[in-house]
Amino acid sequence: MGRKDSWKIAVLEILQTSEKPMSAYDILGKLRDRNPKIAPPTIYRTLSDLVERGRAHRLESLNAYIACKTDKHDESAVITICDDCGVVNEYIDTGVLNALSEVIANSGFAPLRHVIELQGVCENCGYEQN
Ligand SMILES: [Zn+2]
Ligand SMILES: [Zn+2]
Repeated sequence: MGRKDSWKIAVLEILQTSEKPMSAYDILGKLRDRNPKIAPPTIYRTLSDLVERGRAHRLESLNAYIACKTDKHDESAVITICDDCGVVNEYIDTGVLNALSEVIANSGFAPLRHVIELQGVCENCGYEQN
């Protein structure tokens, strides 16, 4: 297991144990507890590698990352983000990507990435308000 892999495992562990999305700098802060020398480019490289491999997702709206909550998947992930508590959930649906592709079918646009993010109020926070 090379150094690169050990960073990947460490970053993934941090993401998996966090209920909430983490920015690259949040992750860097945690890793610096263990290794003060780790530099931001290492973290960014590791994160984009994890995203590419489907082990993590980047939330564009928050500029933050979460661990993929299911096994590796080719389908679109629909990610819900609670505005109140920040909890994130992930749902997989094959139909979503097909529907999105149909919307732009005649546009000539070639989609390469898709992150579907829904912001709102989670079940727990919703109950508290009632
Ligand atoms: Zn996922
Ligand atoms: Zn909530």
